[in-house]
Amino acid sequence: MRRQLVQLLREKKIKDERVLAAIENIPRHFFLDPAFEHHAYEDKAFPILAGQTISQPYTVAYQTELLEIKKFDKVLEIGTGSAYQACVLAELGITLFTIERQKDLYEHVGKFFFLKKYFNIKRFYGDGYEGLPSYGPFDKIIVTAAAPYIPPKLVEQLKPGGIFVIPVGDDKGQKMLKITKDAAGNLNTQELGAASFVPMLQGKNY
Ligand code: SAH
Repeated sequence: MRRQLVQLLREKKIKDERVLAAIENIPRHFFLDPAFEHHAYEDKAFPILAGQTISQPYTVAYQTELLEIKKFDKVLEIGTGSAYQACVLAELGITLFTIERQKDLYEHVGKFFFLKKYFNIKRFYGDGYEGLPSYGPFDKIIVTAAAPYIPPKLVEQLKPGGIFVIPVGDDKGQKMLKITKDAAGNLNTQELGAASFVPMLQGKNY
């Protein structure tokens, strides 16, 4: 089933072989509520705890591909959720720092046996709008929730030469943005296609 999913992602024009291999290696059914387990290899988003969702495999593959990951990159993810996207990134030989604002989700993922495999994932409970100033700057930043605007502190924590992928918008419409920072610190923002994410909310939730 995983191989079929990868085939579908190829048909949808995902080209990065490392991303496709990561998706082929990761048992997505481990990440879903047992009620949805048998749908795990459909290219669809599903509900997880606390009214949140595990992103659609195509979206995970697309955002990961946009990051142009290099081995040993230091990557920041906002919105750990189920940690599926985190594991796909971790398979690419990087160090991942990931932040979740929902305490119950953060704690739930902490008990997830499969994550023990990934020493290169560092999880944090906090507000993604703040980033992780004491661990930055980062080579790459990925936001997996739709932000109403580009969070300035995340831009600050992006290295020169870095790539920042973030869906921006609201429930009326969202666009995927790929922001690059050149060596002089200038930003270049590329508007990509339409996106559909749960909102990036302010502050932590207890
Ligand atoms: N990457 C996840 C997608 C989860 S959905 C996966 O692969 O499953 C988006 C997640 O972003 C939710 O868990 C939500 O709680 C979280 N989120 C929303 N606003 C946030 C913020 N300000 N800081 C950190 N996480 C946030």
